[in-house]
Amino acid sequence: MFDRASVVTPGGVNSPVRAFRAVGGTPRFMVSGTGPYLTDADGREYVDLVCSWGPMILGHSHPEVIAAVQEAVSRGTSFGTPGEGEVALAEEIVARIEPVEQVRLVSSGTEATMSAIRLARGFTGRAKVVKFAGCYHGHVDALLAAAGSGLATFGLPDTPGVTGATAGDTVVLPYNDLDAVRAAFAAHPGEIACVITEASPGNMGVVPPADGFNAGLKELCAANGALYISDEVMTGFRTSKAGWYGVDGVRPDLMTFGKVMGGGFPAAAFGGRGDVMAHLAPAGPVYQAGTLSGNPVATAAGLAQLRLLDDAAYAKIDAVSAELRSLVGAALTKEGVAHTVSAASNMFSVFFTDEPVRDYDDAKKQDVFRFTAFFHAMLEQGVYLPPSAFESWFVSTAHDERAVERIAAALPAAARAAAEATA
Ligand code: PLP
Repeated sequence: MFDRASVVTPGGVNSPVRAFRAVGGTPRFMVSGTGPYLTDADGREYVDLVCSWGPMILGHSHPEVIAAVQEAVSRGTSFGTPGEGEVALAEEIVARIEPVEQVRLVSSGTEATMSAIRLARGFTGRAKVVKFAGCYHGHVDALLAAAGSGLATFGLPDTPGVTGATAGDTVVLPYNDLDAVRAAFAAHPGEIACVITEASPGNMGVVPPADGFNAGLKELCAANGALYISDEVMTGFRTSKAGWYGVDGVRPDLMTFGKVMGGGFPAAAFGGRGDVMAHLAPAGPVYQAGTLSGNPVATAAGLAQLRLLDDAAYAKIDAVSAELRSLVGAALTKEGVAHTVSAASNMFSVFFTDEPVRDYDDAKKQDVFRFTAFFHAMLEQGVYLPPSAFESWFVSTAHDERAVERIAAALPAAARAAAEATA
């Protein structure tokens, strides 16, 4: 299949992180998923710790989500008119996340962040955007500079195809460094439209914000007439019922969402302050649109998933995450492998270093070759990890005792492989 795919698709994949370029080997082609398991084209079953890179927070093929999708599909797949499903999903988002007074639905996280920075520029009449090295906000031209995720995985500094004019208004700063943000505002008075940050980064591995970092960003933005945009595409509806906002309570001007809110379908959103959102067409002058925005099947899936995500669901995900973190840490310690298990609520990843990781430069100092050995040993034993040392691992409510036992059984050999690996 990969040979076939490589003939008709660049690199054989439709999103670079799915390729195994960083770890070597052939990507597995999955044919089905049930609960915490994926089955590949050769009939091998894996415990899935990628969960479609975040969306599958109830596990695969959750019966109530599937039923909602089937019901929606039976009524038609796209109307190009307003519909009740998109209103209900917007109401659910507004009800859960207090700073979101109004929300616009789109189809991908990339569209959400692209539209949010356009709106910020339109609202403030300013051009410059501040972002942080190692934060990924989708493949928006202006936001690809020093992005993590696939760019970290492949060691690409930036990307050809983004013009100097587009990237010239992007100011890239080290993460967790408020002095750098202060200096940027001082260097560009009256020019910065917004500061965009992952609410808690998961695209350089998991690197949570230092105490007071997000609050400091919010304060500096307010003091300088810029908007504070919190990208919750990954953390939204995952790290708590109200995402990372539910964890740190720092009130953004604009927020972006994706992944979990689509229930495995292409649905994403941006929203926030009512006076800012009022600048969006057709209410205001900043244009933004989408043929499939608010698609009835995607919104039915997302709504069904969100409605199942109650306090008990988050308690379960948090507990599974804590158990896995402790199992992984113990296995690596037993083999004497330098490591740091880094967590932000139930999101976590392992850095193969025992030095503290506070930003992208720190993350890049880890022994990536140890991750590669660890990854392949886990894969061989039927555990599917993200094929990169710079990505978050994700669990779901479906990761039950049996799934955890299978992971636990695979860890000793994987930790040994990491210990024996050479650069
Ligand atoms: N923002 C963050 C924080 C993300 O993690 C991602 C994707 O991983 C995006 C934006 C882009 O979302 P999408 O891949 O749906 O375009």
